[in-house]
Amino acid sequence: MSALDQKIIGFDLWQLALPVVSARDHGIGRVEGACEIVVLRLTAEGGAEGFGEASPWSVFTGTPEASHAALDRYLRPLVLGRRVGDRALIMEQAAQAVAHCTEAKAALESALLDLIGQISALPVWALLGGKCRDTIPLSCSIANPDFDQDIALMERLRDDGVGLIKLKTGFRDHAFDIMRLERIARDFPEFGVRVDYNQGLGIEQAIPQVLDVARFRPDFIEQPVRFHHFDMMARLRGLIDVPLLADESVFGPEDMVRAAREGICDGVSVKIMKSGGLSRGQTVARIAGANGLMAYGGDMFEAGLAHLAGTHMIAATPEITLGCEFYQASYYLKEDILETPFQVRNGQVVVPDGPGLGARPDLGRLDHYAVRKPG
Ligand SMILES: [Mg+2]
Repeated sequence: MSALDQKIIGFDLWQLALPVVSARDHGIGRVEGACEIVVLRLTAEGGAEGFGEASPWSVFTGTPEASHAALDRYLRPLVLGRRVGDRALIMEQAAQAVAHCTEAKAALESALLDLIGQISALPVWALLGGKCRDTIPLSCSIANPDFDQDIALMERLRDDGVGLIKLKTGFRDHAFDIMRLERIARDFPEFGVRVDYNQGLGIEQAIPQVLDVARFRPDFIEQPVRFHHFDMMARLRGLIDVPLLADESVFGPEDMVRAAREGICDGVSVKIMKSGGLSRGQTVARIAGANGLMAYGGDMFEAGLAHLAGTHMIAATPEITLGCEFYQASYYLKEDILETPFQVRNGQVVVPDGPGLGARPDLGRLDHYAVRKPG
């Protein structure tokens, strides 16, 4: 019997509330107090364990309660008793078993890949096709309603060698956005600057405000309008001479096909929490690349476990050339959940080479921050 024929016999869930250091405003919503995530542990007959994280945001992808229910009630029966090596079939059935709930499916595929990696002594990037990069440039989001605190954060980022920032706009007023862009251009010229509206602009404001922001020539402007306004995204793209990225308009490969066909963007933010897994995230990036579009490694409000899954996915996906935003474990959570810290060196995320995801959560911290826990 092959090691990958062994059955999955354990399926445990923790729903966590992880305290954060500040409020953050992102276009259509605010995060304050805590990030809420769900952690899945799969156990195989031989005793190997694999972990995955679902990181929802209620105004964007869904709720932690829905992630927990999707895993606990609808996906658990699909997984228990199955062979470890049947990842593709399990994920196909998971897609049919419950609609949406993409973060729960991302947690499931992460845990399956981690488990297979632990058993086969291969890193997840090897299971996803092999490695195309050893490090990924890190971008940190500037999203604090108190800009003085963000100035302190940018000084810390500069000291740490981080070269990319993403200014979150559209949550207060246009004057606040322009004031911050001017301050950053004057006081932090070394940063590559991206701008992300998180759908924050109404149709009536979008054209003048986006044209105004494009004058600062950011690397790109992301998702100025609501996800369903494909026509306005296409129109804005034609009016500005900096790249326009789609985020909320593109969850999975099916959205990417439509986005490319309708010409709504120059690139896409790929997130495993939107696509419903690492493999589908790779497919989004490949459709983008095949259509001559760029790809960026986005994330939700995540802990280090989800960062690791995203890191392996990007490490195995050449089309994702614009870096990543896996900053929360280092700069936003009061305490991350990993036993060994998520590795960022000189502003670069370091791709792990150990088996599976390359690090595991500290079970004591899972219990400490649990709103709900196993048994
Ligand atoms: Mg975004």
